[in-house]
Amino acid sequence: MERLLTFDGKGIYCPRADVHIDPWEKVPKALITHGHSDHARWGMGAYLCTHESVPILQHRLGKTNRIQGIAFGENLFINGVKFSFHPAGHVIGSAQIRVEYKDEIWVVSGDYKLANDGISKAFEPVKCHTFITESTFGLPVYKWQNQTAIFDKVNTWWRKNQAEGRVSVITAYSLGKAQRLINGLDPSIGKIYTHGAIENTNSILREHNHFIQDTQFATASYNFKDYQGNMVVCPPSAANSNWVKKFKDFRLGIASGWMQMRGARRRRAADIGFILSDHADWNGLNTAIEATGANEIYVTHGFSRIYSQYLREQGYDAKIVETAFEGERLDSTEEEKIDQTT
Ligand SMILES: [Zn+2]
Ligand SMILES: [Zn+2]
Repeated sequence: MERLLTFDGKGIYCPRADVHIDPWEKVPKALITHGHSDHARWGMGAYLCTHESVPILQHRLGKTNRIQGIAFGENLFINGVKFSFHPAGHVIGSAQIRVEYKDEIWVVSGDYKLANDGISKAFEPVKCHTFITESTFGLPVYKWQNQTAIFDKVNTWWRKNQAEGRVSVITAYSLGKAQRLINGLDPSIGKIYTHGAIENTNSILREHNHFIQDTQFATASYNFKDYQGNMVVCPPSAANSNWVKKFKDFRLGIASGWMQMRGARRRRAADIGFILSDHADWNGLNTAIEATGANEIYVTHGFSRIYSQYLREQGYDAKIVETAFEGERLDSTEEEKIDQTT
């Protein structure tokens, strides 16, 4: 018997509705969990994503009427199959996609985190029989602190650099992490400057009524005096390029879940690492999976082999599935490539 969802080498496929979810090859109809470029790729015939994701996809893929929006919780029927989008808490607009037909329910979670970051809609557990999960941080060593504690550390670091007459430069993905971090900064310390990739994303989100603290585009016309004592937020790839040299006397910080890993900061030649991720940590993954009530779990990108083994030991019917999705990365990523060109 054919399953409600399958993996056909192009993406997650629903044969009965003839649509793909987060496809990585060109297909006629794509349902998209969120705007990161390993999930929302070029060349699909039509896109459906949450209303919040529409301007993000338009920015990244070009303005086109092929991108349609749907509200969280709204039901859409395609050839009798019921689809709905539910908050994933990963980045603005990110959704889990629920798929139901007869007595079979699947949830495709895309990327997710359980902590409410105050800027993405908070993760909502959705009951299902089969759950497709990422496993980016699927090892017990990954345990996140609450974000207030992390923001305190960032602001303390900023004040220290300022007292020493230096610029603070911090790296964060241009969609998601950057806005989350900016809203956690204390604007009474100084000005917040941004790399163009982040400023472009910020202005699109502000146009659509998302609150993001005031930032200024770090243009080439400013000199060291303008930046001294202030904060600059840039994508990870910019920190490894000539772009960062214009700040002359600066300290470099990295905000990533990988900063929990020994040696990661040193290998990236950063002065400080802040453990902040838009993906679920170990407890988050386990809590999310338990809350779905699902017995069958497909584990995608991340520590899929180890994590699926762990789930089997807990009594789940867990399998690994190969996809083209990427977890959080420290180097220049697919996600950043598009924004670097804008
Ligand atoms: Zn993502
Ligand atoms: Zn991803």
